[in-house]
Amino acid sequence: MDLFEYQGKQFFAKYGMPVSPGAVAFTVDEAVKAAEDLGTPVMVKAQVHTGGRGKAGGVKFAASVDDARTHAENILGLDINGHIVQRLWIEKASDISEEYYASFTLDRSAKKHLGMLSAEGGVEIETVAVENPDAISKIHVDPAEGLSREAAQAWVEGANLNPAAVEGAVDIMIQLYEAYVGGDADLVEINPLILTPDQRVHVLDAKVTLDVNSVFRHPEYVEFDETQPRDEREEAAHSKGLQYVGLEGSVGVIANGAGLAMSTVDVINQVGGKPANFLDIGGGANADVMAGALEVINNDPEVKSIFINIFGGITRGEEVANGIIEALNRVNIDAPIIIRLDGTNADEGREILRPHLNDNLMMEPTMLDAARKAVAMAKA
Ligand code: GDP
Ligand code: MG
Repeated sequence: MDLFEYQGKQFFAKYGMPVSPGAVAFTVDEAVKAAEDLGTPVMVKAQVHTGGRGKAGGVKFAASVDDARTHAENILGLDINGHIVQRLWIEKASDISEEYYASFTLDRSAKKHLGMLSAEGGVEIETVAVENPDAISKIHVDPAEGLSREAAQAWVEGANLNPAAVEGAVDIMIQLYEAYVGGDADLVEINPLILTPDQRVHVLDAKVTLDVNSVFRHPEYVEFDETQPRDEREEAAHSKGLQYVGLEGSVGVIANGAGLAMSTVDVINQVGGKPANFLDIGGGANADVMAGALEVINNDPEVKSIFINIFGGITRGEEVANGIIEALNRVNIDAPIIIRLDGTNADEGREILRPHLNDNLMMEPTMLDAARKAVAMAKA
């Protein structure tokens, strides 16, 4: 789950990191009001889940309230890499002496956290990595040991920052690590981290990706979750608590378990079809869950057939079969449905389904057969 810059800064601030005061604005008037309240100069910053906002004209310095109004008018509605700007962050402008880069993420191959710090900030780190890899100071942190002040100090000293920035940077790197681990983040990035003319080290941008699966540990993340951009289908699925990803094809997919759902998507492709979605109903396949899943898929006009692929484990075949039948009594489905039911008590489940089969509700013995049928029906 990606945070907007201002949410990332609020997140950082909880760990004691220095960020600028500011306010969110959804309209030009709100932006003007924020600029008046904060006192100029301010920065007017597009809030979108993509980088490179500055280059795209989405980050502007406003010396006066009038400037802030003009920038807000120009930036609201702007398309930045396909993201339309709907909210702004108005922030007290900082004076900059130097711009640095700092981040933590997981290095999967090393099985450790990876911190990166560079005196070449404000530009994309990928560019620095290609053109001047020595300018990036790296540290691998063993999650079991954590980041000691000594290790952080050595890491920061390796980055050749202005000597005046070292102590402040060490403090912030320790806080950044605490935020990354304590906040269950997958990525925390500050670009730029700045040194001001009065020699303070300060956070000027924030890119934070949180692990959605940690929300149970952080009830306050619900607020971040609510602002995630989703397409309409994903929104509907999300409100029903379903794991759903919208795709471009014509075969709707319902499977129990993410692994099976992925294999189903693969098999549909293998037999020449295109999945319309990826929908994992999880372990339970009761009528409520099944009805919700069918409703979401039924609302997608691109769906021409629906493949229900269930492998009973703890959930038994007859429960699945009854769930499907009850769900079909509740929702009217337009597209033909092809069921593959296997696993625990599959025979009992199939017996329950058999009397209900017709041209719009079919059953196939194997996943491959069912995929072929679903693809053929989608093309018919
Ligand atoms: P990004 O382009 O999406 O990474 O957006 P940033 O928040 O990083 O802003 C882009 C650039 O705008 C920064 O690298 C800075 O050079 C500049 N900038 C951002 N905030 C300020 C500020 O408070 N004062 C000044 N002078 N420049 C700023
Ligand atoms: Mg930036």
